[in-house]
Amino acid sequence: EIYCDSAATTAIDPEVIETILPFLTTNFGNPSSSHWAGRKVKEAVDASRQKIAKLLNVMPQEIFFVSGATEGNNLALSESIREYGLRHAITSKIEHKAVLEPLLKHEREGDIEISYVKLDKKGNVDLEHLERLLAANPQSLVSLMHGNNEIGNLTDIQAISRLAKKYNAAFHTDTTQTIGKVQLNLAEYPVDFLVGSAHKFHGPKGVGFIYINKRHKLKPRILGGGQEDGQRGGTENVIGIVGLAKALEIAYRDFDLIHEHTLTLKRRLIAQLENSEIGNITYNGESASEHKSLSAILNVSFPCLHIGSIVNNLDQLGIAVSGGSACSNLGNGGSHVIRSINHEAEKENVRFSFSKFNTAEEVDHIVETIVKIYNADSTPSESGVL
Ligand code: PMP
Repeated sequence: EIYCDSAATTAIDPEVIETILPFLTTNFGNPSSSHWAGRKVKEAVDASRQKIAKLLNVMPQEIFFVSGATEGNNLALSESIREYGLRHAITSKIEHKAVLEPLLKHEREGDIEISYVKLDKKGNVDLEHLERLLAANPQSLVSLMHGNNEIGNLTDIQAISRLAKKYNAAFHTDTTQTIGKVQLNLAEYPVDFLVGSAHKFHGPKGVGFIYINKRHKLKPRILGGGQEDGQRGGTENVIGIVGLAKALEIAYRDFDLIHEHTLTLKRRLIAQLENSEIGNITYNGESASEHKSLSAILNVSFPCLHIGSIVNNLDQLGIAVSGGSACSNLGNGGSHVIRSINHEAEKENVRFSFSKFNTAEEVDHIVETIVKIYNADSTPSESGVL
């Protein structure tokens, strides 16, 4: 079996497992307890927060643990709209649903109006249009993602953060796909809110963090025992938090190695696809670019098959990738991201996303398998199954 869907989630790093094991056994205390059992665990939670803050070059008081990027995005957007009475949000059509859905809810409820910034055919933000929107609507909430989860596009959040500051807007950026994968020195960017999810960088699922710039004091959203500086009540996910910090530490420690490895795999995949007999393939967004996209993501449009989708055929052969399809015989409509940037009818888009655990042999095997699927498609067998 081959797993090539690391933008969806990643395997936990063995070093992370080793680090969290004591918290599954002996270190079981409640961090809010004042006795020895609690203190020991509270120290670990505090140390994790400090570690993350140091890696991102922010203050520990600016990091709040949450259940993941979905909660982090919801909290940042909803609470800033409520707390500051913001009436206008500027976002894009290719944001993750964890950003679009909370914004749409606030629009339906009459709290805000939403403007969508123009994107070019490759999904790049039109910064001049953004500036015009900001000039017309100062004191807005800007939410634009750093790395796109489907096409891998990287956004110039430094330029956006400066524009947001110029027009007194709050800037939220969904950094779920870039935390630990793109160098991010928050001391250089006036970002107000950003999020991370541990399972995207070999940590456990169901835990993440939100960074809230110290100039904000959002009201607690989850009331209870006053954990997380009163922002989010509830006994901490200690195992997750310790695992998150360790996973981020490893991602930074091995940063160059991992980046080089995933980029090599992406180059190899592109070269193999170009040399194959498939033909008529295109790349979505900037995903084939080495500098404008995440090294770990390649999103390819393939001609439609008669024998079902490529993603399902690959799955049946033990290869996990993801995608969407505008092929009429499949009719799932494809992804909102691809639809928003280019309307290539009758194409199936497949997202390949790598991690440090993928190998060159796996890439070769994936392309060989896709070629086999196309060959079977042009000469369907009796059963129609490969
Ligand atoms: N934003 C982006 C860009 C993502 O890729 C994801 C995960 N697919 C999320 C938010 C949500 O993350 P989680 O499921 O960990 O809450």
